Amino acid sequence: MREIDHLIGGASVGGERRGDVFDPNTGRVQARVALADAATVAAAIDAGAKAQPGWAAVNPQRRARVLFEFKRLVENEIDSLAEMLSAEHGKVVADSRGDVQRGLEVIEFACGIPHLLKGDYTHGAGPGIDVYSLRQPLGVVAGITPFNFPAMIPMWMFGVAIACGNTFILKPSERDPSLPVRLGELMLEAGAPAGVLNVVHGDKVAVDALLDSPVVRAISFVGSSDIAHYVYSRGTAAGKRVQAMGGAKNHGIVLPDADMGQTVADLVGAAFGSAGERCMALPVVVPVGARTADTLREALLPEIAKLRLGTSTDRDAHYGPVVSAAHKARIEGYIQLGVDEGAELVVDGRGFTLQGHEGGFFVGPTLFDHVQPTMRSYRDEIFGPVLQMVRADSLAEAIALPSKHQYGNGVAIFTRSGPAAREFAASVDVGMVGINVPIPVPVAYHSFGGWKRSAFADIGIHGEEGVRFYTKVKTVTQRWPGMDAGAAVTDSSFVIPTMK
Ligand code: NAD
Repeated sequence: MREIDHLIGGASVGGERRGDVFDPNTGRVQARVALADAATVAAAIDAGAKAQPGWAAVNPQRRARVLFEFKRLVENEIDSLAEMLSAEHGKVVADSRGDVQRGLEVIEFACGIPHLLKGDYTHGAGPGIDVYSLRQPLGVVAGITPFNFPAMIPMWMFGVAIACGNTFILKPSERDPSLPVRLGELMLEAGAPAGVLNVVHGDKVAVDALLDSPVVRAISFVGSSDIAHYVYSRGTAAGKRVQAMGGAKNHGIVLPDADMGQTVADLVGAAFGSAGERCMALPVVVPVGARTADTLREALLPEIAKLRLGTSTDRDAHYGPVVSAAHKARIEGYIQLGVDEGAELVVDGRGFTLQGHEGGFFVGPTLFDHVQPTMRSYRDEIFGPVLQMVRADSLAEAIALPSKHQYGNGVAIFTRSGPAAREFAASVDVGMVGINVPIPVPVAYHSFGGWKRSAFADIGIHGEEGVRFYTKVKTVTQRWPGMDAGAAVTDSSFVIPTMK
């Protein structure tokens, strides 16, 4: 059986405790991943701490060159990386390529970070006095990432942190751990000194060891909301800087004047792509007005019927299996809950099997109509290929739905009306908004971050906010003797200095 080990201080490190890594296409165990104990995490933190002063002393441009080379190496093998990712995640290879590519876009941004590390300078803030600020790295920082983007989300974090002069401990999802290890190896090949990027696999034991370590100065987390809240509370209680992104339930609002053909195409891709296992998927559609709802429903049905499920290596498949047997059972449980709560099950994806892959974790596309905001199946995140239609009578009612929802990650509106879109974007209580854009994940030089229970953080991931998160500002006020023309030596002063 293949074994997947940690990458600590530039070396592969095994361990006794192991977890199963499944092939979602067949349901069979394909590898065993090491699960770190506290001592292994401590070894990784130690490797990071040893490497950090040297890495911070490398000038910013040379640090960026390592990332340039890393980008080249990743691009060289993007096809095999995408296949490696799909084999453990279950998403189709073309989608995995996008996962790697979106991560690389943050690496491209990180190559320009020297520009954002420049401080401010005031010459002559007082007589012979100058003031300047330095943006310095925090030290050793860590990232804990979810299964659904095993390439993009680690790169959101380590690309920026490392460009800023920090060293990094990555604790990826134990469900698809191979790709993050390969990224760590490619960073070494690109010239990152050993210990700059360490990859430690594990579960709660590893996460707690990172949260409690006084050496780890900041934690970035992406995953489900309850764990995000736990990480935020425990990490901040330990005095760390923490950004913890959580779950989502994104709404797509459809106004009567929307381009219906394009809207349906966008909704089907955003609801069912990657089997709905995206934090920026659109699992809720809100048509405004009964006629819009009926038209939309009629237009969705044939498109859903055309969807092709297949293995992650099937080039013609629209989406593949979900990540685990437990997740499949959870999604099917929510479909039953929707039925029990009285929503109309229009298309039922339960019980789907793929010939020759009967043990695979497949869930067919599912459509509900007449879903009510009071239903638990609406309030909770399902994270599967399930689209729920909630009908609204007015734009105000439609805006209130995502605004009042516990999650506030992303939202989209489909319309030809500029004023309606403008009002929507300004007033909706959600962090990332799309206007005729179904999955509005911001580009790398902007920042990613939801609101409410989708993010326990005051500062977003990547972009300038990411640089702020991984650095601290030091402000220096200097006076040089002899520059204060004509000034005589003064006595001690016991009042706060002020600008005369
Ligand atoms: P998860 O919360 O189960 O796991 C995320 C990370 O936390 C993993 O590294 C895991 O090992 C660790 N973890 C799991 N249980 C833990 C515990 N009890 N204590 C400490 N650490 C623990 O999430 P997942 O299933 O891997 O990913 C799917 C979730 O992530 C969804 O809720 C999705 O919406 C969310 N997500 C959010 C964003 C975002 O940016 N807001 C992006 C992607 C995914």
